[in-house]
Amino acid sequence: MKIRNLRNTVWMYFVIFISSILILIWFAFVASLESNYKSMKTRDIVSIATYIMNGWNDNNFTTDKLDEIAYENNMCVLIENGLGYTLYSYDMMGNNCLIHGIYSFMLYRYRAEALNSPNGYYYAEVDNPQFNNETLLFVMVVGDKSTPDGFIYINTSLVPLKSTSDIIKRQVMWISIMFFLLGLGVAYLLARLIEAPIVRITRSAKKMAQGDYSVKFDGHGYTETEVLADTLNYAASEISKVDNLRRDLIANISHDLRTPLTMVKAYAEMIRDLSGDNPEKRTEHVNIIIEESDRLATLVSDILDLSKLESGNDELNLTEFCITDKIHEIMERYKLFSEQKWYKFIVTAEERFVAKADVVKMQQVLYNLINNAVNYTGEDKTVYITQIIKDKKTARIEITDTGDGIDPELLPLIFDRYYRAEKSKREVIGTGLGLSIVKQILKQHNYQFGVRSEKGVGSTFWFEMTGHIEK
Ligand code: ADP
Repeated sequence: MKIRNLRNTVWMYFVIFISSILILIWFAFVASLESNYKSMKTRDIVSIATYIMNGWNDNNFTTDKLDEIAYENNMCVLIENGLGYTLYSYDMMGNNCLIHGIYSFMLYRYRAEALNSPNGYYYAEVDNPQFNNETLLFVMVVGDKSTPDGFIYINTSLVPLKSTSDIIKRQVMWISIMFFLLGLGVAYLLARLIEAPIVRITRSAKKMAQGDYSVKFDGHGYTETEVLADTLNYAASEISKVDNLRRDLIANISHDLRTPLTMVKAYAEMIRDLSGDNPEKRTEHVNIIIEESDRLATLVSDILDLSKLESGNDELNLTEFCITDKIHEIMERYKLFSEQKWYKFIVTAEERFVAKADVVKMQQVLYNLINNAVNYTGEDKTVYITQIIKDKKTARIEITDTGDGIDPELLPLIFDRYYRAEKSKREVIGTGLGLSIVKQILKQHNYQFGVRSEKGVGSTFWFEMTGHIEK
């Protein structure tokens, strides 16, 4: 089994997807937890300092409001005027506060930093030496740096995040592992689900390949696989039809080849053993041999014709010719036949109709239809060949006999390959391929064709050619 099958691929992509999401969460959230916290604090301080500044300029901030902000943010705030006098002071942190505690002497250094900085403020993370805890100190110059209006000091403690972040990290790790395992499971199920109809169809296809055309393809689950299954079911039924046809064809053809061959052999033996010396008998027997050989030859050439036509490689050789003339020409050849065997051919074709078609093939169509009519016509031995001009562009050729007609339920079958009605009326040379050749040729030309037949009255085979009347 290859590694890159559908299930593994789906599974792999799903796992990659989950892993990248978890990694992203880890980096975006857990790993940057501390730095995020610090920058958040800094942002808070800057916004409060800005608030104070604005209040200073507009002269409208109240100490109540400042108290509230300082309390909420857990801050220590000191505002001095330019001369260093305290204007406002708030202590939330007690001894932890750098501003009010014993380390307040350090403030001058940070004030100097703020005065030197281009934007007038300075902040730093400063460890309170007494308690060794981290705090964030912010100093801002109010007004012009050379003659400052005042100074704002803000100090806030940075909660030791390490232990908190460790706890969170551990939790997130557990959750990640759980999600990962869950994801693996879901991915596996998903892959199985996607794969299932394909596996089912493949199983059926294997059976079909072994010659079992009765298999049913089951693709339920997805539209795509259902369509695939339907298509395969259709293919299976078509293949099975062709398979049956092939079997019938071989059976029929071998039967038909054997019959004349048996006759040829029997009569040849007869000549050898009995009639060789009797010229009359011998001629009779030799004639039978010749007739049977003819029959064999017809059968073989019909099979060849049909397979050539059906292979689709046989291209039409289109030329303009007069079909009316062609009919008369063919009837000339039946003349001998009509004189010797008392057949009557009644041809009705007045206007000359010209069509662009394959002459040789259309001639074969006419021959096959007329031969059939001759073979199956009734006691009056009459065959009608009629050309009807339907409109200026279409001529309809009809070949009618006065035979027994064809059973309505057999009508749709007679154009099929190798179909022959059970009872043959006369000593008819037939292969059962004549009409399928006719059908192939007419279809190739895109001509309409058909048959109507009435029991006890006769049959009419017709086709329609397109072309024009010649003046
Ligand atoms: P075949 O060589 O047997 O005539 P065809 O393909 O020409 O083969 O015809 C198929 C079958 O159709 C024939 O066996 C016959 O049963 C029926 N058929 C064809 N033409 C006629 C007709 N003019 N009258 C009655 N039956 C016909």
